[in-house]
Order: sequence, then structure tokens, then C-alpha cells
Amino acid sequence: MTFEDLKFRAHPSGPMFGERARVNFPNGYGASVIRGPYSYGGSEGKYELAVMKGDKLCYDTPITSDVCGYLNISEVTELLQKIEALPPAVKSGQRCDYCGAKLTADLNCPNCGALN
Ligand SMILES: [Zn+2]
Repeated sequence: MTFEDLKFRAHPSGPMFGERARVNFPNGYGASVIRGPYSYGGSEGKYELAVMKGDKLCYDTPITSDVCGYLNISEVTELLQKIEALPPAVKSGQRCDYCGAKLTADLNCPNCGALN
């Protein structure tokens, strides 16, 4: 996946916050990429990226322990590819928080569909 594959929409908090793209990868991780007046580098036309695990912000990957700001397009692509290449977010034997079913490849429960 590269920057060109991202689909930007109005920021969920409102268009005055700029634009955002969300992606999820099969390994259970994803990214939120933002550019707006309040994002890091947004006023210079640059992007801010946060690593996501399911629909939660994730600060404990080897990629970063923070959000990454002031990114140009190729830096966004580089980070997307690193996130995509992380080992699966699901630990072996991990069970669904909601129904107890065993999780397989991603954080969406195969039994109840909940996002863990
Ligand atoms: Zn479940």
C-alpha cells in the first residue's frame, strides 16, 4: 500500500479539522493519516500519521511510540509499508474480550464480529 491508495475524507470531528484517511491491514494494525490546521505539519501541507490497532491508537510498535508528524508523501508510504509488515497483532491463543472465542488472524472476532 502506498500514499496513493489512501482515500481521504473530511475529518470525523468536522471539515474544519481537515481530512483523514483510515486503513486497516490484515495483520490487525492500521493507520490514521491526517492533514489539517491542527495536525503536526498540516499548515505546511504535511501529514500526520498514527499507528492503529483495530480502532485504537497504538503506541507500542517498533515503528513509533508516538504519532509521526511533518511527513511528506513518500514518508507516509514508507510508514504504511512498515505497519503492513508488522507481525500479526493477535498473540497466539488470544481470545475475544466479548465472547471468549479464539481470535485467528486479526482483531475482528470470527465468532461475534467484535473488534478486540
Ligand atoms: Zn467474540
